[in-house]
Amino acid sequence: MRYTGPVCRLCRREGVKLFLKGDKCFTKCILEKRKGIPGMHVKAFSGGRKASEYNKRLREKQKLRRMIGVAERPFRRYFAIAAKKPGLTGENLLRILETRLDNVSQRIGFAISKVAARQMVLHGHILVNGKAVNIPSYQLKPGDSVSMKEGSRANPVYSKWWEQTHQSSVFPSWLESNALTWSGTVKSWPVRDEMSFPVNEQLIVELYSK
Ligand code: SF4
Repeated sequence: MRYTGPVCRLCRREGVKLFLKGDKCFTKCILEKRKGIPGMHVKAFSGGRKASEYNKRLREKQKLRRMIGVAERPFRRYFAIAAKKPGLTGENLLRILETRLDNVSQRIGFAISKVAARQMVLHGHILVNGKAVNIPSYQLKPGDSVSMKEGSRANPVYSKWWEQTHQSSVFPSWLESNALTWSGTVKSWPVRDEMSFPVNEQLIVELYSK
């Protein structure tokens, strides 16, 4: 089931910034003031209890799952698909997540967070190769182009984000973003160094391989 509670709680649970709230993550992050697992004494979080190997792997998986906003079942399905592909399973898994339509929409600069990008796709503002696609998990491949519907570009929030991301973002080499046409293209499959998930994917592979 998808988590629908306060998102900052998830960052506190994982002890790292997961950037789930867009602008506020850079200006008013609660994690910079309050440390510790929600509902637990700070000492229990930072103190002497050494995380078990299992716990470390579990937390890494939860961190990744929460960053992209995928429930456990589909996440397991992604893992099964990644394991069948040639190459490193962990990297394959990240590549599948990285090339989801919601993630690419964020990385192209349509939204300032993955959560906002997901909403944007769900509400039908995004086109893939000129056709409306409202499925956040839609898998893109090299050659696909992603754009925003013309009618949606006048939305003041979307135009602010578009301007903001094109002033400040460095786009990965596997993506091209065109500020004038409100569109982007997937140029190639992303390599590990240019993926947006700062996790140790090997721990996730170990978790599911037990
Ligand atoms: Fe996480 Fe953003 Fe909330 Fe900070 S503001 S705790 S990064 S969701």
